[in-house]
Amino acid sequence: MKARVFKFGGASVRDADGIRNAARIIRDFGNSSNLVVVVSAMGKTTNAMEELLDLAIGNSDYSSKLEALRDYHFSVAEKLFPDISAFEVVRSGLEERFTSLNERLIQAGETDRDFTYDQVVCMGEYLSSFLLYSHLQNIGLSMFLVDAADIIQTNETWREGEVQIEKSSAAAIQFVSPLLQSGIVVTQGFIGGTESGKKTTLGREGSDYTAALFAYFMDAESVTIWKDVPGVLNADPKWMENTVLLPRLSYQDAAELTYYGATVIHPKTIRPLAWKKIPLHVRSFLNPGEPGTVVGPEGEKWDQPAFIRKTNQVLVSLSSRDFSFLEEENITEVLHAFSETGLKMQMLQVSATSISIVTDAEQQKLERAFESLNPRYSLLFNKDLTLITIQNPSKASEDFILGEKPAILVQRTRSTSQLLFR
Ligand code: ASP
Ligand code: MG
Repeated sequence: MKARVFKFGGASVRDADGIRNAARIIRDFGNSSNLVVVVSAMGKTTNAMEELLDLAIGNSDYSSKLEALRDYHFSVAEKLFPDISAFEVVRSGLEERFTSLNERLIQAGETDRDFTYDQVVCMGEYLSSFLLYSHLQNIGLSMFLVDAADIIQTNETWREGEVQIEKSSAAAIQFVSPLLQSGIVVTQGFIGGTESGKKTTLGREGSDYTAALFAYFMDAESVTIWKDVPGVLNADPKWMENTVLLPRLSYQDAAELTYYGATVIHPKTIRPLAWKKIPLHVRSFLNPGEPGTVVGPEGEKWDQPAFIRKTNQVLVSLSSRDFSFLEEENITEVLHAFSETGLKMQMLQVSATSISIVTDAEQQKLERAFESLNPRYSLLFNKDLTLITIQNPSKASEDFILGEKPAILVQRTRSTSQLLFR
């Protein structure tokens, strides 16, 4: 029997009811063995960890913030384990983890900031996975709690750990496969480990990627991401009304959606699944009986417009200081400066005397690009912009978006229209 992978994000396990609901889904839609459950930190815990870290690094008092995070986790535990003796075990498990978190915060100022980030922020997933695991065990399922850092091996690029596929795969086959024969494995999303035993993280919202990796290593039958939306929609329902569900998508279509900024699936998720043709289901944890979206090898080509909105964009306009026309070398130089800093270009337009680039408003990276280009180019920045990408655009879909206000930059290819707004 092939394994399956379920992923529960922070919103799905944000309180005791959420954890109970996740457990019901695991019981009703999963298997009693051969199932890997990947879980994110509860609710907004990762943001809280980042705030704690900032305070600790700045030598500010973080005790009340830490106390609030403690109360949050303990109050969920109290609701989940009304029985005193069960609660006692969980209480001491939580206590241990909070002690470890506090130790990490105390040392925060002493080491590299990004390294410290990973050692602190990972604790959110250690807390949530422990609570979910304990609850599943408590309701009688055969469970194992696996430390993702022992499986997902990465290099030491803190905050953006690069996964070593071969090593991680070997670890998964050696340590996870045997457990799956007799039970369900719970593990943390978002976390990796280095050869020297340090924790890394895989980038914000990286738990989807973890789920895809486990599926890849285990040669899984499928991955299911349980979300607060019915599946992949043709726009973010928080932004647009009357969205429609995309029932089937090819890997290609899904990858493009994430590339342009759809946040429903993490961009790194698709590739490992496509390599092994493992289907990805995106389903609602609120209506788990609904089929949701299947992303897979034979998804039909989706040919209706889909809308992706990215806020907080910057338009950088460059022209050469000596008023010369921009040649191929200039374009190469500019692109190089951007790729060196890791800035991702959303849009690029070249004219005789200027290059326009739309990118995320990442201050530090922009400053570095600016430093290297400033001697030869004059740069203009336009901030607080919104980029709307329409996949499979139609005249009506463009008019619909442009009906609100005029775009300041427009670019069209056969498969996408990109419209930039102030
Ligand atoms: N907890 C992490 C975050 O909020 C990872 C995830 O949710 O996927 O970024
Ligand atoms: Mg999350």
